[in-house]
Amino acid sequence: MDVRQAVIWDSVLKERKESIITKGKQKNRLKCDTDSVAGCVSQRACVYCGARVVLNPVTDAIHLVHGPIGCASYTWDIRGSLSSGSELYRNSFSTDLQEQDVIFGGEKKLARAIDELVAQYPAKVVFVYATCIVGVIGDDLEAVCKAAAARHQIEVIPVQSSGFAGNKAAGYRAACDALLRLIQPTQTGISARANTINYLGDFNLAGEVWIIKNYLRQIGVEVNVAFTGDSHYEALKNATAASLNIIQCAGSMIYLAQRMKELYGIPYLNVSFLGLQDTAESLRKIASHFGDEEMQRRVEELVARETARVEPTLEWYRRRLQGKKAAIYVGGGFKAISLIKQFREIGIDVVMIGTQTGRKEEYEIIHELVDDGTVILDDANPSELEKFMVEKGAHLLVGGVKERPLAYKLGIAFIDHNHDRKHPLSGFVGAVNLAKEVYTTLCSPVWQYV
Ligand code: SF4
Repeated sequence: MDVRQAVIWDSVLKERKESIITKGKQKNRLKCDTDSVAGCVSQRACVYCGARVVLNPVTDAIHLVHGPIGCASYTWDIRGSLSSGSELYRNSFSTDLQEQDVIFGGEKKLARAIDELVAQYPAKVVFVYATCIVGVIGDDLEAVCKAAAARHQIEVIPVQSSGFAGNKAAGYRAACDALLRLIQPTQTGISARANTINYLGDFNLAGEVWIIKNYLRQIGVEVNVAFTGDSHYEALKNATAASLNIIQCAGSMIYLAQRMKELYGIPYLNVSFLGLQDTAESLRKIASHFGDEEMQRRVEELVARETARVEPTLEWYRRRLQGKKAAIYVGGGFKAISLIKQFREIGIDVVMIGTQTGRKEEYEIIHELVDDGTVILDDANPSELEKFMVEKGAHLLVGGVKERPLAYKLGIAFIDHNHDRKHPLSGFVGAVNLAKEVYTTLCSPVWQYV
């Protein structure tokens, strides 16, 4: 029997119906930014995972997971953010809570773990992550961290990320709150160094921060610190030395940008460096913010040069990929929006698109961009993804590690656009890498044996 026919045609749960729409068939009123439906095996990660996404790339921090050892399996090895300095962040330390600690409390064990780690690793900051069980037993993380900070004269920052206390987006906020505790207002935002920006929401996967920094350098903009790809304690402390925040992954970092605007008067801009169109537009947006004609001239020069360099290669892929259909299920809305445009650049239509933590305004843009008949869904579960991929005849799924098996079980191609990939997908160079990967997987001879 065809594998596709073997898919169990589960109808969508009643409670999930408002979170799925088909453009042109239903009104554009997608329910999003809410907790997952109880009992539904959502593809969404937990609060703690959301916090780790944001904080783990801080390279010279001790990252201590207060919880059972399983939670600590989230390590650098599954999130390939690169460092130009310290490698300390590649360790995933855990208090390894056991039954006895659950009964009698884990605070003493946590204090001992911090002491041991600080004695062994010279770090100026320790992030202590709360996990589900810590929320259940009620350990006072704040008090333990405060006492440890006083004992060691370093910063020990609790991250309130009990896995069950909300969804992944709550983890982003918990991580941003931890970063806000770290940022020291040595200078006020607007009067800070001219043409100096902070780059928010890029985690330096496969060196992507370095690619974007290079573009910005060429147009005369200096990056003060990236949140948090390849960042370190001292740079984060001086985050207020920038005159502008640009945000790549708005889902994880819009809260930090808004708070920095309120606290330090630093304005922010949403950008995206995925695909030719968005990369060019983002560079133009930055130059236009500074109102600097020389910078605008340099942007046009860079865009023309880079586009001319990659366009022949993209054209080669476009001819071979024309007419293929893609399904997209990614973490945040900004990536989903850019991917729709990026797939158009290589001749591919998007027939299903969803995110784990997309916001209302992002879904509105998605709705605007896609063709009639495209299925848009928030916080999906595996059976929904399978159902719509088959129904819409997708040839390719774009997702992360949790979506990969779904695609392979259905016998369709898969692209990893998550944190465990090893090649950059940002900027002009990333556009070529994506097209190459799409071509390699879609046109692989293996599919004729499925
Ligand atoms: S915090 Fe909770 S949901 Fe998250 S990995 Fe740990 S046990 Fe699982």
